[in-house]
Amino acid sequence: MHGGRDVANDASTVFDVVILGGGSGGYAAALRAAQLGLQVALIEKNKLGGTCLHQGCIPTKALLHAGEVADQTREAAGFGVKAVFEGIDINAVHAYKDGVVSGLYKGLQGLVASRKITYIEGEGRLSSPTSVDVNGQRITGRHVVLATGSVPKSLPGLAIDGNRVISSDHALTLDRVPKSAIVLGGGVIGVEFASVWKSFGAEVTIIEALPHLAPLEDENSSKLLERAFRKRGIKFELGARFAGVEYTETGVRASLENGKQVEAELMLVAVGRGPVSSGLGYEEAGVAMDRGYVLVDEYCQTNVPTISAVGDLIPTLQLAHVGFAEGILVAERIAGLKVVPIDYDGVPRVTYCNPEVASVGITEAKAKELYGDDKVVTAKFNLAGNGKSKILKTAGEIKLVQVKDGAVVGVHMVGERMGEQVGEAQLIYNWEALPAEVAQLIHAHPTQNEALGEAHLALAGKPLHNHD
Ligand SMILES: Cc1cc2nc3c(=O)[nH]c(=O)nc-3n(C[C@H](O)[C@H](O)[C@H](O)COP(=O)(O)OP(=O)(O)OC[C@H]3O[C@@H](n4cnc5c(N)ncnc54)[C@H](O)[C@@H]3O)c2cc1C
Repeated sequence: MHGGRDVANDASTVFDVVILGGGSGGYAAALRAAQLGLQVALIEKNKLGGTCLHQGCIPTKALLHAGEVADQTREAAGFGVKAVFEGIDINAVHAYKDGVVSGLYKGLQGLVASRKITYIEGEGRLSSPTSVDVNGQRITGRHVVLATGSVPKSLPGLAIDGNRVISSDHALTLDRVPKSAIVLGGGVIGVEFASVWKSFGAEVTIIEALPHLAPLEDENSSKLLERAFRKRGIKFELGARFAGVEYTETGVRASLENGKQVEAELMLVAVGRGPVSSGLGYEEAGVAMDRGYVLVDEYCQTNVPTISAVGDLIPTLQLAHVGFAEGILVAERIAGLKVVPIDYDGVPRVTYCNPEVASVGITEAKAKELYGDDKVVTAKFNLAGNGKSKILKTAGEIKLVQVKDGAVVGVHMVGERMGEQVGEAQLIYNWEALPAEVAQLIHAHPTQNEALGEAHLALAGKPLHNHD
């Protein structure tokens, strides 16, 4: 029995939609489709909630918060508070993190059950453009949504042993704080773990082949992050290509192509995530693919009209909220509602290290490429001039990118808690606001949000607390 329905003895059932994979993309599609009155089957081989809930967003942010508490305890005297940092009780940290995850997991299970979704536990395989085989049964639907997500990638020849050379999955359940760690990859996942481990007391070195940390961000944000990490004592090798790793008596030694070597207790491989699609029958059903990713149009429909795909399985931004949005879009399209393609530049992006890096829209470099060097205007507001940031003792900047005499096309922020500011930034970008329009809005004092207002005042030609 699944969701009150005995699908095993009900082979004639044709669902409106059969969804393969119960992560952010898949379960969002299921919830919205059910809300719209469609009959939904959701197939998941592991745990409802997928990577985001069990190995991604939620557990990492819990660790990062524990790291923040550790840092605040160490720095308490600077605020006149007497506290002694005695160390990290890693078992208690895991208990806190797992408590957050299990509470949300229960809530999600309840939500799926309450929407009368037929939830099927098992490993599914696409058997035709309108069916998935699971547990020896054929589940048929008018539409199929592929949402099998992604898993950690490695480099050619680099074996992840789960002990000294680990992936983010292993890092989340590590039974100790490593004394030292190498983080291979300075993207989102790499800098977040580097930040946590440093807060927990480890010596951390990041190896990044590109010239900057957080290389997809505006260069200004990357440089600010590098400055902040340097201050925190997080080491990094930039523009450094990884050559290989060997075991030492106590850990690992990584070699770089430039001849340098770095030793540590373990190495986290954070070089990206690859799609889960191999052996799942996608090609056999005629679905067009590229290097394991399922190709879709702007409505998340594959070249096979009955098959859609969402989330990390398709080559769009690998973010949980992108998966949610794609899942909702597909459910609404299948239900016959009018849907609008997603503007991926308008998706907010947050890296939750300390300090946080948050952005929406395009970088200055991209704007110049699109509009021409002389058509792009920028303005910065330094958090040193923001009262609340001073109170928090955080440093950073908000940078705006504007098309000359036009809308704001990029908002780039670095500083503690800047992730919380991305909501307004997202409205500014997506509503194509002019700087003068935002400057007209009064921002509450003293908040960090005020800094966003001040940056727009500057861009509108009437800076208030800017020193330059
Ligand atoms: C360490 C880390 C931190 C992250 N932090 C953030 C963050 O802060 N914010 C953010 O927005 N994103 C974050 N992400 C990314 C986010 O987790 C993913 O973008 C999101 O989970 C993608 O959702 P999905 O549904 O496409 O795939 P997944 O969440 O991977 O779900 C796919 C599901 O399909 C199931 N499945 C696969 N094959 C089969 C099969 N054959 N049969 C049945 N079931 C199957 C899997 O078990 C899985 O549950 C993070 C990721 C990681 C790894």
